[in-house]
Amino acid sequence: MTYRILGNGEPVRLLVAGLHGSEWKDTSDILENIRAPKEGTLAVIPVVSKGNYVSTLDDTYFTGIGQPIIEAVEGLRPCIYIELHSYSAKNLAALTDPDRLNISGVPPFSRLDHDVLLGSVGPFIRRKYFPPQALCLTFEIQKDNSLSKLHASELIDIVKECISKEEFIRFMFGRYPKQAENVIRDYRNFYGMQDNLEMFMKKQVGRDRK
Ligand SMILES: [Zn+2]
Repeated sequence: MTYRILGNGEPVRLLVAGLHGSEWKDTSDILENIRAPKEGTLAVIPVVSKGNYVSTLDDTYFTGIGQPIIEAVEGLRPCIYIELHSYSAKNLAALTDPDRLNISGVPPFSRLDHDVLLGSVGPFIRRKYFPPQALCLTFEIQKDNSLSKLHASELIDIVKECISKEEFIRFMFGRYPKQAENVIRDYRNFYGMQDNLEMFMKKQVGRDRK
């Protein structure tokens, strides 16, 4: 077993950091110091690999150095799955480029406060290992930016307490309405999921405008 378990019962969330290369330096201590959720289970893998950098968009990542993640997903069946990555400031424009789908084949990240980026996880793990109703997110922390890391930690503390995807979406619409709309639109377009997210979004936006 490569993961650590905090709390117990449903729902089950899995948070992973240090997925490749030197990213563990910017991300792992957030999960090492995380506390048990008030309700349900939190499983963490603070360091997946300190080895070579293989992108999680590369299918061989999850059959190679990312294998511990797959083992945890198959063993725990989490309904919330979060990857914590880090990026260099010079890549900010490319990661948030509205045209990223055409350039890299995946939707752009949304920019939150302190240059924390929010997006989905790679298509391979999303499609193969999670049902459509699962919440799968990536947070990207900007390297050498302590405020970025602090803000990401605060967001992680909120996500780890969420008992459902809907609860997290509700939080996002309160805090980051524009980005939340973009994330959900990209998610739906990219994965073609016909779940009730769109309905939920419309209801939520309608309620907020009253
Ligand atoms: Zn990464």
